[in-house]
Amino acid sequence: MKIYHDISLRPYHSFGIDAVADRVIEVSENDELQQAVKAAGGEEPLVVLGRGCNMLFSDVFHGVVLVMRTRGVCVIADDGDTVLVEAMAGEDWDGFVRYCSNKGWHGLENLVAIPGTVGAAPVQNVGAYGSEAADVIHSVNVFDLETMTMRSLTASDCCFAYRDSVFKHALRGRCVVTSVVFRLSHSFSPNLSYKAVGELFANEGPIGPSQLMAAIGDLRWSKLPHPEVLGNAGSFFKNPIVSRECGAALRTAYPQVPLYPTADGCKVAAGWLIEQCGWRGRRVGQCGVYERQALVLVNYGGASFDDIRQLADAITADVQSRFGIILEREAQYNIT
Ligand SMILES: Cc1cc2nc3c(=O)[nH]c(=O)nc-3n(C[C@H](O)[C@H](O)[C@H](O)COP(=O)(O)OP(=O)(O)OC[C@H]3O[C@@H](n4cnc5c(N)ncnc54)[C@H](O)[C@@H]3O)c2cc1C
Repeated sequence: MKIYHDISLRPYHSFGIDAVADRVIEVSENDELQQAVKAAGGEEPLVVLGRGCNMLFSDVFHGVVLVMRTRGVCVIADDGDTVLVEAMAGEDWDGFVRYCSNKGWHGLENLVAIPGTVGAAPVQNVGAYGSEAADVIHSVNVFDLETMTMRSLTASDCCFAYRDSVFKHALRGRCVVTSVVFRLSHSFSPNLSYKAVGELFANEGPIGPSQLMAAIGDLRWSKLPHPEVLGNAGSFFKNPIVSRECGAALRTAYPQVPLYPTADGCKVAAGWLIEQCGWRGRRVGQCGVYERQALVLVNYGGASFDDIRQLADAITADVQSRFGIILEREAQYNIT
C-alpha cells in the first residue's frame, strides 16, 4: 500500500485537469483494504478510483482517493461450454478483454478498447457497439466499507441497466469492487447487432474474434480522441431515454433524429441533440466539444474543473431549451 499527501491527480485520470487531492492511497492487495480504509480515517470523503477515465475532480479535492491496483485473472469453473473467469479490480479492461478472447473465452469482444479497469466496469455497466458488461457478468465481489467485510453480489443484485447499476444508487460510496466474475463462452458467435459493425462485415464470410476486435478498435478511435493526446472522459453525457410519445413528437419535428427503441421508450442520440445546438467542434477557452463526436468534451490543456463544468452546463441548458430534454452526465464529478 502506498500513501501520498497533497498530490496532483493529473496522472490518475484521463481529463488532464491539474486537480490536487489531500491524499491518494494505492492498494495492490485486497488484504490491504481494511488498513487503507483505517488510514483514510473516515473524516474526509473517500472516492474509489480505477484509471479515472470517467471522473472529474474539483481543482482542490479535500478527500481521499483510493486507487485499486490489484491484479490477477483466474478460471474458477469450466463446464466445457462456458467458463467462469475472475479478474481483479485493478486489471486493465482492454488487456483483460484481449486476454480472454485469445484464450478462447468469448463474449467480451465488442467491449474492446474501452479505457479503464475491470473494477469500474460493473459500476456504470460499460457498454459499446451492441454489448454491455452486464451481458456476461456472473457476480461481483466487493469490500463493504460499512461492515469492513468482503461479500459477493449476483448479477441480479447489481441491478444493471443502461450505464447504471446498484453501485450508483443504493450502494453508492459503500463498496469497493475487488473482483468481477464473468461467464464467457468457449464458442465465438460475433455480435454484429450494432449498425456500423454489421455494415462493416455485411459482405464478409465467417469472421474471427481478432478481426471483430480490430474493426471495433478502428471504429472507436476514428470517432474518439486518445486521452493521452487530448484529455477527455469518453461520452460526457448519457443518451437520454424519453417516452414513446416524446420520441414520436421528436420524429415529427426532426425526421432525421436518431432514435432507438428501448423496453420503456426511446433512446435519443445525445450527440445529435448537442450537434443541433451548434456545439460540435466549438472551443471555449481551454476546453471544448470534440469535432468528430459532439458527446465528447475535451481539454486542450490547462482547463480547470470549473471550465469543464461551465461548458457542460451551457450545453445542457441549450439542449433543454431547444428540445425540452434534460441531459444526464455519464462522467462523474467529485467535488469538495
Ligand atoms: C476515450 C474514452 C472512451 C470511452 N468509451 C467508453 C465506452 O465505449 N463505453 C463506456 O461504457 N464507457 C466508456 N468510457 C468511460 C470509461 O472508460 C468507463 O467508465 C470505465 O469503466 C472507467 O474505468 P476506470 O477504471 O477509469 O474508472 P474510474 O473513472 O476510475 O471510475 C469510474 C466510477 O467507478 C468507480 N470505481 C472505479 N473502480 C472501482 C472499484 N474498484 N470499486 C468501486 N468503485 C469503483 C469510481 O468511484 C467511479 O464512480 C470511455 C472513456 C474514455 C476516456
